[in-house]
Amino acid sequence: MTRLIFLGPPGSGKGTQAAQLANNEQIPHISTGELLRKAVEDKTSLGLKVQSYLDEGELVPDKVVEDLVKERLSKSDASSGWILDGFPRNVVQAEFLDKLLEEVGQWTDWAIAMEVPDDVIVDRLRERGRSDDSEETIRHRLEVYREKTAPLIDFYRGRGQLKSVNGNQPIADVAAALKQAIGS
Ligand code: AMP
Repeated sequence: MTRLIFLGPPGSGKGTQAAQLANNEQIPHISTGELLRKAVEDKTSLGLKVQSYLDEGELVPDKVVEDLVKERLSKSDASSGWILDGFPRNVVQAEFLDKLLEEVGQWTDWAIAMEVPDDVIVDRLRERGRSDDSEETIRHRLEVYREKTAPLIDFYRGRGQLKSVNGNQPIADVAAALKQAIGS
């Protein structure tokens, strides 16, 4: 049983690693960013509501993502494990997750902090070219990460639930380091 939270700035490679590991472990990879981008693409009412936040690199309101995560975690395929990528993004969401998991008798095994220096991140994001990867939005998303999401590193470290992984190495080496960190 694997239940992991991936923390890390945009461009840290957490999405790539989370997808790969989830695939290996045959558990769902739950990326709130992907779910939100899909809603925007499909022009659902949720998509229309969140588009401006994504375009500006702002966090969408907590309630919106909390509802998404609650619904996704209640699906049967999530009963045997999951990887959360991009959620929680702040302390309020982390506390929501704690409560939600407690209600269903689950827990988080580890929070994984993907560590990559800022200059490497900016270069990677420039190359990626996603629609919310413009120079200005990149800078803003990094600020939002530092201000709101980075405090979660201490939040999980304080509970002995944090594993740090050096994300500034070739993808296969990051995967190996990750595997070692979680002991799988
Ligand atoms: P990501 O793909 O994780 O980088 O997320 C892309 C965008 O989706 C972010 O810049 C936010 O606008 C939004 N987003 C994703 N996850 C969350 C979350 N947990 N809380 C609030 N906004 C989120």
